[in-house]
Amino acid sequence: MREILLCKYGEIVLKGANKRYFEDTLCKELRRRAKKCGNFDISRAQSTIYIEPKDDFADIDAMFEAASKTFGLAAIGRAAVCEKDLDDIKRVAREYIPQFLFGKKSFKVEGKRSDKTFPLNSMELAGEIGAEILEATGGKIRVDVRNPEITVKVEIRERAAYVHAGQFKGAGGIPVGTGGHGMLLLSGGIDSPVAGYMMAKRGLRVEAVHFESIPYTSELAKDKVVRLARTIAAYTGDVYIHVVSLTKIQEELVKHCEEDYFTLLLRRYMMYIASKIAADHESKCLITGESLGQVASQTMEAIAVTDNAASIPVLRPCIGMDKEEIVEISRKIGTFDISIEPYEDCCTVFTPKHPKTKPQLDKVLVEERKLDFEALAKEAIDGAYVIKAEAYQ
Ligand code: ATP
Ligand code: MG
Repeated sequence: MREILLCKYGEIVLKGANKRYFEDTLCKELRRRAKKCGNFDISRAQSTIYIEPKDDFADIDAMFEAASKTFGLAAIGRAAVCEKDLDDIKRVAREYIPQFLFGKKSFKVEGKRSDKTFPLNSMELAGEIGAEILEATGGKIRVDVRNPEITVKVEIRERAAYVHAGQFKGAGGIPVGTGGHGMLLLSGGIDSPVAGYMMAKRGLRVEAVHFESIPYTSELAKDKVVRLARTIAAYTGDVYIHVVSLTKIQEELVKHCEEDYFTLLLRRYMMYIASKIAADHESKCLITGESLGQVASQTMEAIAVTDNAASIPVLRPCIGMDKEEIVEISRKIGTFDISIEPYEDCCTVFTPKHPKTKPQLDKVLVEERKLDFEALAKEAIDGAYVIKAEAYQ
């Protein structure tokens, strides 16, 4: 028996003239992911994407996992393929459906006949297959056409007949890449991986910048960031991480600037450096995990001061979210347990005792001018290197 995936688009259906572009990008992304799962054929017809194994080595469970993390899909159905022949449909229904009915009390069968040359109409087809399933399950489940626990669908389409037992929720959103590239400022915390996931969901291909401060931060902290990137990569696709050292900048800050401004000045450097790297790598925006009021550097005044150092738009998808809401997403996408591992971030070394919560830009700039801002930033950018974080699967 051959099992296939039938995927339904989400928001793409609303895309009018651009629909084709969104569909193409989505199929390309699915094909890219399918390579890791074996030999699959991916095609589309009647607003459905068909994912079909080409041989016995194609891992349909792995493909299902990969598809359920692909943005642009609203739902994914698993179905068994049969010939357009009643006996074959019955055989497949007997073999395939009972596993999905286990523990359920009631079901119904819905027939659908797009190929009108098939001799039975939808009602007759549903009746035949319902009876077959009842027999196969030995009366452990009953038919309830009004309020069934599960609906089994039998479809006669152009290319074949399909028996399916329910649809699973897709990842939603729009296909990665349709919105261009975005540069995520990725720390080892809870918020920034979630921010990257959220913007990939809205179509951005995510690249990342990570700032380290060795020896004040450790190699283990970087390893943690790579694991976070690999975890979100299941959704975003492979993530290229630009690793930038802030060690010298932080040491200079400590030597020359007033302590209360350390964090703000450091965050301005982050925005400035990330903007430069973004410009060199086709990214049209920065993405951060900031949430209004969460810490001293995330008051509206502090955000205004740091924003001023960026030269492209800064997207902050977590800005209006409570920590609890961010945590909920991080648990769902599998980053939470990694994020809570205890390693120092460069933001948490040399933190001022009394950080300015209502900073004024002109005063911050006075502090900043005590350093050769551009030269220090350039040196940090020149020393950056790239790590490719691939999805685990
Ligand atoms: P997170 O949980 O994402 O680390 P946070 O609540 O700890 O966020 P901050 O440390 O103030 O908040 O950082 C705010 C944002 O700045 C982060 O969400 C991230 O986008 C960026 N950021 C902070 N530290 C780094 C770093 N070491 N490398 C790259 N980006 C960083
Ligand atoms: Mg942090």
